Amino acid sequence: MQTETFSMPFGAYVFNETVLIQYLNKEAFTKITQAIISGSKIDRVLADQIAAAMKTWALSKGATHYTHWFQPLTGATAEKHDAFYDRAETGEPIVKFEGDQLVQQEPDASSFPSGGIRNTFEARGYTAWDPSSPAFVYGTTLCIPTIFVSYTGEALDFKTPLIKSLHALDKAATAVCRYFDKNTSRVVATLGWEQEYFLVDKERAATRPDLILTGRTLMGHESSKGQQLDDHYFGSIPTRVLDFMQALEKECWLLGIPVKTRHNEVAPSQFELAPIYEEVNLAVDHNALLMDIMNRIADKHQFKVLLHEKPFAGINGSGKHNNWSLATNKGINLLSPGKTPMSNLQFLTFFISTIGAVLEHESLLRAAIASSGNDHRLGANEAPPAIISVFIGQQLSKVLDDLEHVSKGKLSPQEKTDLKLNVIGKIPEILLDNTDRNRTSPFAFTGNKFEFRAVGSSANCAKPMTVLNAMVAERLNAFKEQTDALIEKKGMKKDDAIFNVLRDQIKGIKSILFEGDGYSKEWEKESAKRGLSNNKTTPEALPAYIHEKSVLLFEHLNIFTERELIARYQVDLEEYVMKTQIEARTLGDISRNHVIPTGIRYQNTLIENVRGLKEIYGEAFEKHAKEQMVIIERISQHIAAINRGVNAMISARKKANQLSDAHQKAMAYCKEVFPFFEEIRYQCDKLELIVDASLWPMAKYRQLLFMQ
Ligand code: ADP
Ligand code: MG
Repeated sequence: MQTETFSMPFGAYVFNETVLIQYLNKEAFTKITQAIISGSKIDRVLADQIAAAMKTWALSKGATHYTHWFQPLTGATAEKHDAFYDRAETGEPIVKFEGDQLVQQEPDASSFPSGGIRNTFEARGYTAWDPSSPAFVYGTTLCIPTIFVSYTGEALDFKTPLIKSLHALDKAATAVCRYFDKNTSRVVATLGWEQEYFLVDKERAATRPDLILTGRTLMGHESSKGQQLDDHYFGSIPTRVLDFMQALEKECWLLGIPVKTRHNEVAPSQFELAPIYEEVNLAVDHNALLMDIMNRIADKHQFKVLLHEKPFAGINGSGKHNNWSLATNKGINLLSPGKTPMSNLQFLTFFISTIGAVLEHESLLRAAIASSGNDHRLGANEAPPAIISVFIGQQLSKVLDDLEHVSKGKLSPQEKTDLKLNVIGKIPEILLDNTDRNRTSPFAFTGNKFEFRAVGSSANCAKPMTVLNAMVAERLNAFKEQTDALIEKKGMKKDDAIFNVLRDQIKGIKSILFEGDGYSKEWEKESAKRGLSNNKTTPEALPAYIHEKSVLLFEHLNIFTERELIARYQVDLEEYVMKTQIEARTLGDISRNHVIPTGIRYQNTLIENVRGLKEIYGEAFEKHAKEQMVIIERISQHIAAINRGVNAMISARKKANQLSDAHQKAMAYCKEVFPFFEEIRYQCDKLELIVDASLWPMAKYRQLLFMQ
């Protein structure tokens, strides 16, 4: 079966260029490829031609239905299937799929989060075809990637702003590239995500309401063996898991997801999968699709896949590093040093602009990765801190230091030669042995790309990518403006002007650069002095979305209106509240319905035992029942503490629920409700340790993490 799949062409179930060439005439093919590149409108005639081609192709792949596939703000992908079969006016069954069905659909938007944008009386939303991401057949359904907007035109999904941010970045970056190469006509952002996840046995997971309802364990005593021995990392992959991985890779192959590496991660039962990078829009779709495929394939293999950022306490959580770079239409990676001083100056321009952008909008970037799940991970031992900083390594820091000291104004020929030969001319060599790899940095330069490591494993990559693209676009626009001003107003030569602008920028960006241990207490103090934000929780991080600076950024670049931003902020706050609320309820239920009754059952066994001992030994029983009595007493104490904790948590929740302001409510859940989680859990875990294992109703950590 395996070899069979790989003998099929990569992307055999994707309506890609190879298929387009076969199914369209030359004129139509040229028109559609141009429209994809420029983002221009596709006329009705062309849409009909493509729909006809898509239909024939999809039917040949066994599709019976089609769907507009989109990414609403729920975080999951959405689809509503329609059969290709329709009825002609004569009543005859026909196969129908035309431009109309391809281009636009009207799903009822009322059940998707809109943050107040959608009025209840106007439930309509539109999905509109995104031709820049190819359609694909998944199972028996033709999936057409689309964007999702409200009746009044506001974005209701992750993809609309992402695509807008990519256009803004293309425009800004292309303009800057033209200083260096007049023939640059397009710049695309690239993304290679690294997806971490846990696999647990499905049957065992099914014994845990917390895993089923919240995606993480809300209690569970640590297994005596965890990740102390580091024997899982890169270890041999268990056969059962390998079977799952192979099935997953097979599906990815057919769907054109270029998965490349797989390995065990640090924690037991934790794994990682990474593709070859792609253009951001496609990479985002592929990651969203992958998460869906993973769930389905895991299910078939009797596994449950956990994409939550922190499914287990005491061991590592999961992230999704977003490797990001920029490439020109000529295939040049703008974050990779080139062979000539001029191309290195180009590299430095993009490098410095990205760092500057991160400094300018560090709190917004933090907000873009905020979620209740990620709160457990950021700042914990294995993950980057909630403080955003940039790591570039010692050698590039030295290059920046050297550049910072170039003369103001026109550079002397000697200075220019010196710079070109000894500073920027040396960059490629420097990077070759750039072994500096600070694992504690949330945003690290890794030789030819930036790696944004703070993204959570369950996140839709579009969110951080939209913010990153936008802020870099803004910075590049500013760079262009300043450079042009020096050229036009001060009569400077192009390279003098570029050196001058870069020099000034370097002075300003140093406070975001950090090479040390991001986990340390010293960095917390130091970063506060530098004025960097340190928002440890989601409700504290999110307001950066609606700061004036952020609104200006997005409005200027036409990515979000203020109304859309506020709506998104509301959606994120609501999601935080709902997730914490569900966790609180689940924790209360398991404590009362699983843990306490189990404690009592075991206590009854002990009481029975003590009674028996009394029967046998009479008054001398105490000597024999001493330890049992101690345990009976301890069980009572734990039960009482759990019950008190749950009661107090419920009161805190009731109080929080009365708040009408979404931010206040989220803060109340974070600061008043959430702290009880730890307390309750502590007591439950202690009880788990003393209760007869055969009575414990939920799979234990060791059973979840060490399965074969
Ligand atoms: P590691 O970071 O573990 O050393 P790699 O350097 O091979 O691994 O790359 C990790 C991820 O970075 C992969 O998904 C890869 O496709 C992606 N990547 C590599 N180059 C680029 C690039 N120019 N743009 C975006 N992602 C990239
Ligand atoms: Mg990496």
